[in-house]
Amino acid sequence: MQDYIVRGTDKEGNFRFFGANAKNTISMACTKHHTTPVVSAALGRTMIGAAMMGCMLKGDRDRVSVMIRGDGPIGGIVVEADGTGNFKGYAYNPEADIPNKPDGKLDVSGVIGNAVMTVMKDMGLKEPYSGQIAMLSGEIAEDFTYYFATSEQTNSVVILGVLVDRDYSIKQAGGIIIQVLPNAADEAITNLENKLKGFTSITKLLDENKTVEEIIESLLGPIDMMEKTKVGFKCDCSKYRMERGLISIGRAELEEIINEEENVELVCHFCNTKYDFSKDEIEKIVKTL
Ligand code: ZN
Repeated sequence: MQDYIVRGTDKEGNFRFFGANAKNTISMACTKHHTTPVVSAALGRTMIGAAMMGCMLKGDRDRVSVMIRGDGPIGGIVVEADGTGNFKGYAYNPEADIPNKPDGKLDVSGVIGNAVMTVMKDMGLKEPYSGQIAMLSGEIAEDFTYYFATSEQTNSVVILGVLVDRDYSIKQAGGIIIQVLPNAADEAITNLENKLKGFTSITKLLDENKTVEEIIESLLGPIDMMEKTKVGFKCDCSKYRMERGLISIGRAELEEIINEEENVELVCHFCNTKYDFSKDEIEKIVKTL
């Protein structure tokens, strides 16, 4: 099944929602980066959250980046999503591993440690929008909720799940964001809060063959779907973009590279594509600085 994101509102107009089934994209990212199960969960949850945020953007060329930096074994996570459904991500230390929590669950907050989450939105304006929070939970969904409340003044429910199978493959991966609209009825909010108390987990429900839409309806009642977008992994790296990266290193460092190396191989962190730059090419870049 192709990954997709749905968006819409409940019939009474109290909430707007985003829902994602992203199993294939998360599988691809985890296979590419050889992640341990706990890193698969941490990276996957962040990617699903960012992908849904990408669908909140107005323009197709707009993009959102979510960066996590912490003192846990994973080091950090970088995820990018755009307004057309492309999203990608990587972890600094994909092989980071720690024991499960006493209840048997993957210890995502433990592998992340004390961390800061930065959200950047590039909407074609001169300065990209940037918001930052200290991660209180480290379980990621709660941190997105906290980010929406503090940086965007929006009350949200964020549910993110990645189910890793015994053979380390991704069995299920999905997420839901529900945001309270300005004129929401108090009764509807209380009703949703009560339903959330009995909510098990999104991956358990997906594993029972429920669709994301059905899970959202079980929380909100009848819904109006506005859009269903196919989403997936796509990296837009290129030799030109890598060259921009080299320029940002600065003249002195590049001159040092020319003196020490025959050529330079740069690897895209997101998709592992390799780009070779010869001594001549780097000399040309230095001359333009
Ligand atoms: Zn790439």
